[in-house]
Amino acid sequence: MKEKISSRQAMELEDKYGAHNYHPLPVVLSKGAGARVWDAEGKEYFDFLSAYSAVNQGHCHPKIIGALIDQAQTLTLTSRAFYNDVLGVYEKFATSYFGYDKILPMNSGAEGDETALKLCRKWAYTKKGIAENEAKIIVCADNFHGRTITVISMSTDPDSRGGFGPYTPGFITIPYNDLPALEKALEDPNVAGFLVEPIQGEAGVFVPDDGYLKGAYDLCKAKNVLFIADEVQTGIARTGQLLACDHEGVKPDILILGKALSGGVYPVSAVLANDEIMLCIKPGEHGSTFGGNPLAARVAIAALEVVKEESLAEKAAYLGKIFRAEMQKLVDETNLVTKVRGKGLLNAVIVNDTPQSHTAWNICVKMAENGVLAKPTHGNIIRFAPPLVITETELMDAIARIKKSFLAFN
Ligand code: PLP
Repeated sequence: MKEKISSRQAMELEDKYGAHNYHPLPVVLSKGAGARVWDAEGKEYFDFLSAYSAVNQGHCHPKIIGALIDQAQTLTLTSRAFYNDVLGVYEKFATSYFGYDKILPMNSGAEGDETALKLCRKWAYTKKGIAENEAKIIVCADNFHGRTITVISMSTDPDSRGGFGPYTPGFITIPYNDLPALEKALEDPNVAGFLVEPIQGEAGVFVPDDGYLKGAYDLCKAKNVLFIADEVQTGIARTGQLLACDHEGVKPDILILGKALSGGVYPVSAVLANDEIMLCIKPGEHGSTFGGNPLAARVAIAALEVVKEESLAEKAAYLGKIFRAEMQKLVDETNLVTKVRGKGLLNAVIVNDTPQSHTAWNICVKMAENGVLAKPTHGNIIRFAPPLVITETELMDAIARIKKSFLAFN
């Protein structure tokens, strides 16, 4: 039986015994269902963060939890030293779902990115003919791909990077949403890949210009360079299409997925590619004890089925338009917000203040009081990303609470 503790006790415990690597809003969650969560004292909130877009299918989705419980009582982990009778079924399902020959299962998003980088380098040496240790991968300024050493080596964010050197070499950083810069960087014959987020989520929901992804893909193709899309945050219906790259009809050579691949129930990530690329990695060259375990595989199948069965991409597209139109009223009618941007249900509102003044933080605290949870990113940007199962009625209720919270600062 779970020990019942108050919000205050929970915060004190985390503060005293946990590493201080996060700065959470002072809200202690103890239960979730659909688009709603409840704190330890029973106060109800709309969740507008969705665990950084992992909980697209809603909290504790009955179908996904059912798959979890059933598989947890049957077989959880075998390691890849042996076959298990769920992984292959998942691999067939997921490859046909996303249209690739092969999938490589991992656990976290950062591991997915690391896997894609290794795959790209291996392809560079075995297929493209780049000399050993010379391969370079182009990345974008202000990216976010996770927290491992190699991943932060690609970062331009001083908080992510500072004090953690020495860094992994082999990356070229160019500005995001800048095709001429990409074209120039691609002149280097040792470039093997271009890694990009179709929308930069953590940076503050930066949506590139229409045509950027297609243009970047075409430039890569012309130079035999792999187009690698990190759809860990944008993928799986969040932006109003199954993948954000689908908005421009681009099929990445390497696709990285995480977060909502499990509906936020279990850490599941994956890299997908066709044989020409994926078979560059041979037995013993990559893996993870938990990657592809039967529990993860069952959960992921259920999570992906829910996305289609409940038309979550279509819902995100429809509700996202309503959300942005309503938030635009704050831009037009007040001095509080300078901009609203996003796609589907991945949106951000830019608070008209300096990041140092903490107004966005204070607005988020006020929203929590009013029953909506969201968090600032980079000081004055508030990201709004509710579970995609949110109903239109719930969304309108939440919007009223969000507006009320903003207007308290007018
Ligand atoms: N890639 C992107 C685009 C992300 O947004 C994130 C997390 O926010 C990651 C990778 C890292 O995922 P994880 O925290 O599961 O390692």
